[in-house]
Amino acid sequence: MQKRILSIYVNLQDRELNLPRYLNDVKFIISICPSSIMGGKFPDRDVKKVKNILKRNYGLLGQRGYFGRCKYNHNDGTDPWHENFCLHNEPIGLEDQLEFITKGREVLAKTFGIEPLIYAPINHLYDENTLAAIQILKYRFMMDQNNVGKELRPYERHGVIIIPEAPIEKNGTLESLAIYTHLDTLYYPEIAEYIKKFKYTVPVGIMPEEIPEKILRINEIKKRIRKLERDERKLKGFAG
Ligand SMILES: [Zn+2]
Repeated sequence: MQKRILSIYVNLQDRELNLPRYLNDVKFIISICPSSIMGGKFPDRDVKKVKNILKRNYGLLGQRGYFGRCKYNHNDGTDPWHENFCLHNEPIGLEDQLEFITKGREVLAKTFGIEPLIYAPINHLYDENTLAAIQILKYRFMMDQNNVGKELRPYERHGVIIIPEAPIEKNGTLESLAIYTHLDTLYYPEIAEYIKKFKYTVPVGIMPEEIPEKILRINEIKKRIRKLERDERKLKGFAG
């Protein structure tokens, strides 16, 4: 069976980095939002744990945006957790994106002593300016959300390898070479069982494939529908 790629997204504001034992010998991408570890919010012992994951397991460090939150206000209740691309406002310019992505990279490099090779846009929302910035800053990989399935495999754009990853879901996960979940779900039995089913590798040395443009378009449309439907639910439920 082909090895899979696993990303674990860390949100450290209110919890410690408490990884389950079944991940001990697993190679994975650990993606961290720089602003969540700034200003001493990330204890030294967790910095050490991350360094160990990167060294001992040959894991890879992913940069999950910088600030985490959209620069436009979302006072209407729509989801504010994105920063490279907003579904409801003007695009964010290349200069701005270069600036905050660089700031975030510096935070991670200073904290963990290693530069991230992977950029993971918050909520998997990005645009052409993000791709241009990632290329200029020489990241090797960027994560996207896989909403299509196994035919959507890693492909190349402007010298960057895009890795489509499907969320691991309690009630059925889309078949995908790359999958992801958040730190706080790792102890859910359904999520743990799903992760244990596969062997894992990290994307270093991965060969991008030719993916038909139509599949990429369908994936982008499905992704936006998913996010817009969430916003619709939030708008309806919002008391303001
Ligand atoms: Zn926004």
